[in-house]
Amino acid sequence: MLGWTDQRPLATLLPEAEAKKITSAFGYRTAGELLLHFPRTWSHHGSGVSLDGATEGEQVTIVGIVTYANTTFTRSGKKLTKIVVEFGASHAGATFFNSVVAQRQLTVGKAVMLSGKVKYFQGRAEISHPAFIVLPEAGEKPKKAVGTLRELSAYGSASQLEELLSSLEYIPIYPAKKGVTAWSLLGAMSHVLDQTPPIPEPLDQVPSGLVSFDEALRLIHHPDSRGQQPAIDRIKYNEALSLALVMALRRADAQSYRAPVLPASEEGVRAEFLRNLPFELTAGQRKVIADIAQDLAQPHPMQRLLQGEVGSGKTVVALIAMLQAIDAGCQCALLAPTEVLAVQHARDLTQLLIDAGLPTNVVALTGSMSTATRKKALLDIMSGQADIVVGTHALIQESVEFFDLGLVVVDEQHRFGVEQRDMLRGKGSHDRTPHQLVMTATPIPRTVAMTSFADLAVSALHELPAGRQEIQTSVVPEFKPEWVARAWERIREEVAAGRQAFVVCPRIEGEGGVEETFDYLRTQIFPELNVAMLHGRMPAEEKDAIMADFAAGGIDILVATTVIEVGINVPNASVMYIREAHSFGVSQLHQLRGRVGRGEYKSLCLLHTTMEPGTPSVQRLFDVAATSDGFGLAELDLRTRQEGDVLGTAQSGTKRRVRLLSLLSDRALIERANADATALVARNRSLAEHLVSDIEGQDYLEKS
Ligand code: ADP
Ligand code: MG
Repeated sequence: MLGWTDQRPLATLLPEAEAKKITSAFGYRTAGELLLHFPRTWSHHGSGVSLDGATEGEQVTIVGIVTYANTTFTRSGKKLTKIVVEFGASHAGATFFNSVVAQRQLTVGKAVMLSGKVKYFQGRAEISHPAFIVLPEAGEKPKKAVGTLRELSAYGSASQLEELLSSLEYIPIYPAKKGVTAWSLLGAMSHVLDQTPPIPEPLDQVPSGLVSFDEALRLIHHPDSRGQQPAIDRIKYNEALSLALVMALRRADAQSYRAPVLPASEEGVRAEFLRNLPFELTAGQRKVIADIAQDLAQPHPMQRLLQGEVGSGKTVVALIAMLQAIDAGCQCALLAPTEVLAVQHARDLTQLLIDAGLPTNVVALTGSMSTATRKKALLDIMSGQADIVVGTHALIQESVEFFDLGLVVVDEQHRFGVEQRDMLRGKGSHDRTPHQLVMTATPIPRTVAMTSFADLAVSALHELPAGRQEIQTSVVPEFKPEWVARAWERIREEVAAGRQAFVVCPRIEGEGGVEETFDYLRTQIFPELNVAMLHGRMPAEEKDAIMADFAAGGIDILVATTVIEVGINVPNASVMYIREAHSFGVSQLHQLRGRVGRGEYKSLCLLHTTMEPGTPSVQRLFDVAATSDGFGLAELDLRTRQEGDVLGTAQSGTKRRVRLLSLLSDRALIERANADATALVARNRSLAEHLVSDIEGQDYLEKS
């Protein structure tokens, strides 16, 4: 971690059997790995440690007071000991068969630590045959080893551990696994720490207001009277700094790459396009366009992220940027996540250019093109005839030869990882790196942006163009059949008024899937209407044909998977029905519903759910229905999803390096680490590189 490793094999530090158990349970082989196994929580003077919402079957460790103990015999003559342990306001039961030790030691009033698999019986937590340890009372003389304490005797003498337990003001509770209890980890950890000489501070100075790394690593396992917080603060800082340093180094690197200089010109297609725009640009659009104009005029590659609400008009911004590159004699590539979208983008861009009276030279390159068309397209790209090339990521990955690529726009890319950003290096002529504009409609919460996208400049479009219609969103619970019927009725009314509808399903096959829903709607609900389906497994030509037909108004209702999530622009579509909406994320729902309300018509989004009322899943749907602010919903998304997922999507490598840092609550610390990282890279670049040398190249593999 951040300039510190400890490669001493566990087998040389712990009794062989203990080391083996730890390796097979957790995979740890070195002291460094073990010492980074932090406690889940700490029990202050044996105060209660609860189950913490553990799920059925999970291995848990609790600390509490025995409030009931009774031993009886079962009908088959087995001795059965039942106890109840209280911790704070709740309690758990535990049972033991034929355990004399349990019967003797677990008496009312004793403070105990139990570890085992939890089961729930009518809402009550039960641990069957847990491993346990009776905690010595503060100041109590260590007793002779008995019962389960024997396993601790591996570390010299068991009374040594009893001594440790009675001397610790805070008892660390480690995440345990079958075969390795929380207290055997406590023993192992103390044993390894005792044999660890002071660790020199890995940074060039101890960060002000924080403890040294050596102190932090010892304190987190054995907090003194200050408690665990100083240790947590320092270790979180290390985690934040390691994320920040990678980004700070990337920012510094970007300055060393050369890009074509593409200044905006008063003459040319960009100026002409701006003059002929059929609408007023929003203030936000004007600001972003000006920022991009400046970036493109620099000799270093632009790395800009444009976040904008669905429908906020990102395409026009991108096109104006592309026209600036074209005026300067370069080609542009627009990358879409799917071929359907690439084709649609090519069509939309061509239309915008035709409307502005400009000669069009947009070329789409997709896998489903005929060989002849593809050959012609490739030739146009190589010769420089094609100004704008639209395709998927394969455009870059398959190393299509551009004559002179100056700008790459990546549209609607939620998972545009560092690796993909790097792929463009040297792709321009004379080994220059093209400028890059990444656009997303899923706002990235600020802390995520700071940890995973801090090498990009960020612009945001908060406002929608004037005159945009609001989207009214309602929840349609399955358990109210009349609401479901009313939802279908609303779709019929919209179609009768000349509009079109999307019905989105969470899967293709099976119950509630696209195929089934398509059949049901076509035969049972809307036999008189034109219903079609669209999903990712259909052949590309068929998908293109259906999209084109829908865009032209030939299809009334399109039943689809989330293939329509990104970028599809059909202004006549005014209603969307999302089946089992609870199975989608908050931001995804917002993104989906942005496919309606894009024209002059008041629009409607219906969130169907099969979940019970009052559940968190249904509450989330009501939250989505109540707000139209994508940025607010992105924060909500961050709060309701597992942080690991958020990091996992944003950047797979981050997850493994972040154990304690929270993207939700540690914003101030993340900000400080970012500033410190920038300063450190400027002050001592080789140290900065050394500190993250164990990360780069292995953790940053983004899979999309
Ligand atoms: P998104 O940001 O979701 O990609 P689009 O770029 O597809 O949004 O824009 C949605 C629609 O709004 C398009 O039809 C576009 O032509 C139109 N549009 C863009 N900017 C403006 C504006 N300033 N005023 C009016 N309409 C606009
Ligand atoms: Mg778009």
